[in-house]
Amino acid sequence: MKKITLVMAMSQEATPIIGQLALRACNDFVSRTPARAFSGQYKGLEISLVINGTDLTHNVECVGTQPATLAAYEALNHFQPDLLINAGTCGAFAEKGSKIGDVYIGERIRFFDRRIPMGDYEAYGHGNYPCPLAVDLARQLDIPTAVVCTGNALDMSPTDEAILKQEPVVNKEMEAAAIAWVASLWNVPLIAIKSVTDLMDGGQTTSEEFLQNLCFASQNLNEAVVQVMDCLAEKLQLSFS
Ligand code: SAH
Repeated sequence: MKKITLVMAMSQEATPIIGQLALRACNDFVSRTPARAFSGQYKGLEISLVINGTDLTHNVECVGTQPATLAAYEALNHFQPDLLINAGTCGAFAEKGSKIGDVYIGERIRFFDRRIPMGDYEAYGHGNYPCPLAVDLARQLDIPTAVVCTGNALDMSPTDEAILKQEPVVNKEMEAAAIAWVASLWNVPLIAIKSVTDLMDGGQTTSEEFLQNLCFASQNLNEAVVQVMDCLAEKLQLSFS
């Protein structure tokens, strides 16, 4: 696995990684969407990174499943990677043992808000994409795993909460399952790496807590991404020797 593409939602999450891996803006990545790409080499790996970009109407980062779907589609088409990594931030439950800044690798990725109780549509709605390669890597690196749960709201309705709490350890975020679907169409493995910005049962308003912890969580995310890259680079070296 030599070619690795990271797909990320917010520039605040991506900035430390772009700096640490010394990635440069990639001018031949042209898109009708606001997505932007960066690329570079790291320890023999060919790395590219695509962020969703800024919404021109509202001047905010394009978060959520639609921009993530398009960015993943274009990233896979343009860079033809061997592996996709979705790195980002998430909410988690303190009662399930999570703390601000904890980093997880997704053992499974699902939608929590696509409720279609109509025969096989129910399972289709949930997605439930397994991540066997990610689980292997998490074990090797001693990084805990969680079920990454994707929906299009930052807040949490009582219905969402009941569904989320059925999972063992939860990372609630807004992109991974959309990316997992696109990765499955390309038959490219996906590793989701998530860092906790907010505790959904912590008593603080999610948006406030998110903004307060975004920088710290993004630094921890950066460290875990580099750890994963180092491990992949080592495996690549071994495959040549
Ligand atoms: N209020 C923020 C908006 C960010 S939306 C702002 O003003 O900048 C949240 C982003 O972080 C999404 O990309 C999502 O994947 C992730 N995220 C972090 N915590 C989340 C949570 N509790 N629920 C859903 N997404 C969350």
